[in-house]
Amino acid sequence: MIGAALLALYYFIDPSMAHFPIRCPLHELTGIQCPACGSQRALHAILHGEWNEALRFNAFFTIVAPIALPITVAIVWGRNRRLRSVFCNRYFFGAFIAAYIIWGVLRFISEFGFLN
Ligand SMILES: [Zn+2]
Repeated sequence: MIGAALLALYYFIDPSMAHFPIRCPLHELTGIQCPACGSQRALHAILHGEWNEALRFNAFFTIVAPIALPITVAIVWGRNRRLRSVFCNRYFFGAFIAAYIIWGVLRFISEFGFLN
């Protein structure tokens, strides 16, 4: 219910145009983008079918969110034991955190023009 309300909120409110709901404190203080920066704008773009725009805002979120959302719903609502055993373990969680950190480092490096 809360998830559906959040999706509706991000569908109707464009975070690029509004100061809603949360500004990244790291970006506000330093100008550096954290691994999550652009996720809200990417979600808004995904909900409007603008995948290229979403990839530009946050590629990691754009790739992971459409995969993670249905899996999470299936695990939580469906209480799917097979999905739970595949995705709810320390190996998957560790791999996800490692990928997230690598994404953050690559993004940080590219911010200084290394990958451009
Ligand atoms: Zn951020």
